[in-house]
Amino acid sequence: MRYVNASMRKSPRKSVTSTEAERALVTLVVDFANQGPPGTPGAVEHHFQQHPFVQRSPYWKSIDPVALKQPDPDGQISAAMARDFGGVQLDLRRRLEGIMEARGVSSTERAKVERNLQELLTVVAGTPAGPIRVPLGTIAIGYQRGQLTLGFQPFLTGVQATIDYGLALLLDAQRELSRGLMQCQVSKAGVVCGRFFWRSFGTERYCSTAHQNLARRKATMRRQQKWRATHLGWTAGK
Ligand SMILES: [Zn+2]
Repeated sequence: MRYVNASMRKSPRKSVTSTEAERALVTLVVDFANQGPPGTPGAVEHHFQQHPFVQRSPYWKSIDPVALKQPDPDGQISAAMARDFGGVQLDLRRRLEGIMEARGVSSTERAKVERNLQELLTVVAGTPAGPIRVPLGTIAIGYQRGQLTLGFQPFLTGVQATIDYGLALLLDAQRELSRGLMQCQVSKAGVVCGRFFWRSFGTERYCSTAHQNLARRKATMRRQQKWRATHLGWTAGK
């Protein structure tokens, strides 16, 4: 069997019920989970700031000392924030793994999404009558082939809010964006790859051609070892 290089998908498949902007957000979130540990807080914010839901948000609160022009002569604040974002990234990876394991949404995950969305889609504003919660979003009206389209666009406030909204989109059954989501399980020198990707074919299980080939070599090796053990009484390490 030949493996096709073009089959590795970094984005969810198109679905009638999702918009291009929504798919792009889910892609950025899964991309972040696949990246190495964050170098600087600015790099993490920049990763998500490419997205229109962030670009159009009047409420984005940067915590990057460089963007805020805060003094940070020895880089300690920046390093601490990069570590914090590393924690956010680890939590995201665990949640994605949980989603893959459950092949759906656990009640804990559902409660988390609900709580996070309620918080991220409103902001508390002071008024003479007291504080009120103001919604953080807008309706985008589109026009496609003579038809009107309505789309909700949130004003995202930060990295965590962006991840929470992206995960909620991924989990929404109507949008079908988690269809074909996989985690590569091939291991090299005892370390599991762990990259998330969307498969193109029903049989695809690895994130890249290199890892498909690696898995194939390992399977062949296992078969040969088993054959030798059965037929020659030989096992590796003897
Ligand atoms: Zn892999």
